[in-house]
Amino acid sequence: MGDFSFYNYHITMLLNRKHIKSSLIGMSIGDFTSIVKDYDEPKYRAEQLFTWIYKRNVQSFAEMENLPKQLKINIANNYLLNPLKILKVTGAKLAATRKFLLECQDGKKIEAVLMKEQKRITICLSSQIGCALGCEFCATGKMGIIRNLTIGEIVAQYLLLLKESEKPITNVVFMGMGEPFLNYDNVIKAADLLNHPDGINLGARHITISTAGIIPQILKFAKEKRRYKLAISLNGSTQEQRLKTMPIAKKYPIDKLLESVKYYYNATRNLVTFEYVLISDINDLELDAKRLINLISTLPCKLNVIPYNEIGSKFRRPSDEKIREFLGNFSNATFTVTTRWSKGADINAGCGQLVVN
Ligand code: SAH
Ligand code: SF4
Repeated sequence: MGDFSFYNYHITMLLNRKHIKSSLIGMSIGDFTSIVKDYDEPKYRAEQLFTWIYKRNVQSFAEMENLPKQLKINIANNYLLNPLKILKVTGAKLAATRKFLLECQDGKKIEAVLMKEQKRITICLSSQIGCALGCEFCATGKMGIIRNLTIGEIVAQYLLLLKESEKPITNVVFMGMGEPFLNYDNVIKAADLLNHPDGINLGARHITISTAGIIPQILKFAKEKRRYKLAISLNGSTQEQRLKTMPIAKKYPIDKLLESVKYYYNATRNLVTFEYVLISDINDLELDAKRLINLISTLPCKLNVIPYNEIGSKFRRPSDEKIREFLGNFSNATFTVTTRWSKGADINAGCGQLVVN
C-alpha cells in the first residue's frame, strides 16, 4: 500500500509537471545565457531576450523581432513567457485604485493592486498565496499559507499591471498577500530584477518590503546591505498589545524586534518605516500614542499610521475624528509621521483586504 501511494504520487507529480513549464519572466541573464547556449546561439541572444522581456515588456514571442524564428520556436516549446493570467479587474480604467485577480499556472489565484496618487503610481505586490502568520486583523491571514510565489510570479504581477497602467509605475510595495520575509530569496531576486538597470530599472529606494517582524531575515537583509526600503508592521506599543493581534509577536518579541531595527540602521544607515494599523479600542488611545513615541523616538525611523480597513471581523476602524485625534498626539514627535488613507477600501483593495478562495 505504501509503495503504491509512493508510485501514484510520483506519477501525479510527473503529469502535473508536464503542464507546468518554467516561465522566462523571473529568469536572470545567466539563465537566459544557458538557454540560448542549449540551442547553439551566441550570448548576445540572451541579452536580446532580457531586453524584450523586461525592458520592452512584450507579451508574445512573435514580438521579439530580432530573434531567429527557430530559436523562438525552440524556446516556446519548452518555456512559457508569462506565468500569470488576468482573471478579473475591479475598478474602472481611470479609477485611482484598481485591483487585479491573477491566476497562476497551477490554477491558484493571487491579487495585486495598482494605485494612482498625483504623480506617483504604486503597485502593491503579493509575495505568497495566503500567509502563515494569521494576524487577527488581516484577510490574507485568515487563508493560512498555500505556497510561496516564484520569482516569475512576483515579477509578472509588475509586468502585467504595467501594461494596464496609463503611466509608468513609480513605486513597488511588497504589501499584498503574504509575508515577504518568509519567501526571502524569491522576493529579493524579484526585487533585483525590478531594479536591474538593463531591464525594468526601478530605483532601489522606490521598492519597499514590508515585514510583520521576522527578525532573522531583518538581520540578514541588514548584513547583505540591501538597499530596498524596509517597513515593519508594529501595530502595537507593547509586547502584550502586539500579542493580542499578531501571533508572530510571541516568537519575535517587540524588544528584540527593536534591537534588530537598530542593527539594520547601523549596517545600512537607512531608516525603517514602522507601520501602525490603527484599530478602534485596540490601539487608538492617547496613551498608545504616548507609549509609541517613547518606544521609537530613539530609533532612526518614520511612522506610517494606517487606519484599519474593515474585513468583516470583530475589529472596527476608528472614526475620522478619532483618527485625527490620535495623529494630533504626534505634533512634537522627532520622527516623520504619515497616514495611509488606504485607497480602494471600497473595492476591498486596501491593506490587509486581499484574499482569494
Ligand atoms: N506581511 C507583511 C506585508 C503584507 S501586509 C506585513 O504584515 O507587513 C501589509 C500591511 O497591511 C501591514 O502593515 C499590515 O499590518 C497591514 N494590514 C493588514 N491588515 C490590514 C487591515 N485590515 N487594514 C489595514 N491595514 C492592514
Ligand atoms: Fe500575513 Fe502581513 Fe496579513 Fe499578518 S498582516 S497575516 S503577516 S499578510
